[in-house]
Amino acid sequence: LSCITARFNPCSNLPFTTLGVSRSDSAPIHFSLKSLSLGGNFSFDDTHHAARDFGNRYHFFPTAILRPKSVSDIATTIKHVLQMGSGSDLTVAARGHGHSLQGQAQTNGGVVVNMESLREPKMRVHAGKLPYVDVSGGELWINILHECLKHGLAPKSWTDYLHLTVGGTLSNAGISGQAFRHGPQISNVYQMEVVTGKGEVVNCSEKQNADLFYSVLGGLGQFGIITRARIALQPAPKMVKWIRVLYSDFSIFASDQEHLITSENTFDYVEGFVIINRTGILNNWRSSFNAQDPLQATQFDSEGRTLFSLEIAKNFNPHETDIMNQEIESFLSQLSYIPSTLFLSEVPYLEFLDRVHVSEIKLRSKGLWEVPHPWLNLLIPKSKIHDFAKEVFGNILTDTSNGPVIIYPLNKTKWNSRTSTVTPDEDIFYQVAFLSSAVPSSTGTDGLEHILNQNKRILDFCRTARLGMKQYLPHYTTQEEWRAHFGPLWERFVQRKFSYDPLAILAPGQRIFQKAI
Ligand code: FAD
Repeated sequence: LSCITARFNPCSNLPFTTLGVSRSDSAPIHFSLKSLSLGGNFSFDDTHHAARDFGNRYHFFPTAILRPKSVSDIATTIKHVLQMGSGSDLTVAARGHGHSLQGQAQTNGGVVVNMESLREPKMRVHAGKLPYVDVSGGELWINILHECLKHGLAPKSWTDYLHLTVGGTLSNAGISGQAFRHGPQISNVYQMEVVTGKGEVVNCSEKQNADLFYSVLGGLGQFGIITRARIALQPAPKMVKWIRVLYSDFSIFASDQEHLITSENTFDYVEGFVIINRTGILNNWRSSFNAQDPLQATQFDSEGRTLFSLEIAKNFNPHETDIMNQEIESFLSQLSYIPSTLFLSEVPYLEFLDRVHVSEIKLRSKGLWEVPHPWLNLLIPKSKIHDFAKEVFGNILTDTSNGPVIIYPLNKTKWNSRTSTVTPDEDIFYQVAFLSSAVPSSTGTDGLEHILNQNKRILDFCRTARLGMKQYLPHYTTQEEWRAHFGPLWERFVQRKFSYDPLAILAPGQRIFQKAI
């Protein structure tokens, strides 16, 4: 254990980090990798793609990219890296869709495994009493949705954006507005196949190799590469009633959100967002929401105030429209939003789930997707959310948010404490996500430096006010911070690393452990 922890090496905290491959020994490494007998292949020239991610701030160049055809290609590669022994600093980073924010799927001079090349197993939907789908760890959630809908089924728990891989979201948690009811995506997996840092291919579930199963879920890629997952399904609705209402008082907004996530049979999706100093409420890049009464929506002017928008949705099938409308009316009557701000929309289920992709296409066409994204994702305990809101929305973020600010509560009872994900120590905690985009080379309030400063002020406040906050998609630069993040679970995390990846080969981009050399 001490071997791993003592060799922890905090990485640079520079806003832009670029490390080229300056290996003098890359030729023998290429030669030895090429000698492996694989169904897939290595490439050595087009490494720049693997040195980028959505965050667009960290660029670590690998020495090789593995495009695996089967699980054995991944196992063979890891075993080979192991055989090179502790004299080599070669590491292995699984890369899903590369939508990390700070280089978590990158490796400096190591091997990136391009998980999207792994087309095995072929996606298979199993209907029946407990329906499920078997998918490759490199499968995109959007593809899973399309396939499952052919069978009238769909996964239960989602992320807001579906162009992410199964392995990538299960390594964190995978949360969206359904998680209050079904738990995060890591609570909706029946079993997995994993290649550990020892190169062993292991099947695991709640009943079989349970310790590995729970270690890998939320494990930040530290214990194994997920090559297959069995995802729980449920009948898919055809349509979604999508609703937004506004509040000017945070306490009333939060109390309504908490009421919805703790009551039985209300909405199927509960989220919310903060509107900071906007003049048109639809002026929001994540918004593909088209209110049925757009005139009323655009006429509502926030007059520069900070408003809180509750976003809720109810699934339904066309023959249930009347009863669904009655139920919605009854649920809405229990809420205390500003009465003139009820915005309704009805969309197909697929369109609702894939809503962020519409914004992606718009931003891409304007060259605004591939900008730096200094995102900050926090989990705040319910008892401290009012202190947090007062300081952050009242003092720190008063001019603009530089992107959507999402806020919604989650039920801790739906999270399994045996997984590696760390959450605050209360029955209800809030996900607060600052999804900022920075204008390249701007030195103003929309520039990277200003946004990073704001993020720092928010983090400093959480620390000094002792809010018991945990980062989601955590990013730290010192061992003390990682220890504090895991708290009493740090020893368990280190023990798991020792059991499944003792040489610290896997997911070096998380910068938790450094390979022992
Ligand atoms: P990558 O960035 O490729 O990898 C992430 C980490 O997982 C790396 O450490 C990598 O080594 C490891 N990894 C990748 N594949 C595997 C595997 N098969 N086995 C083991 N480890 C692996 N998250 C939410 O929870 N809810 C949201 O609503 C949400 N919305 C998002 C919207 C956008 C536009 C973006 C960019 C991100 C969003 N995220 C959200 C965050 C997202 O879930 C994580 O960043 C996720 O890790 C990205 O998946 P990926 O496939 O791109 O993973």
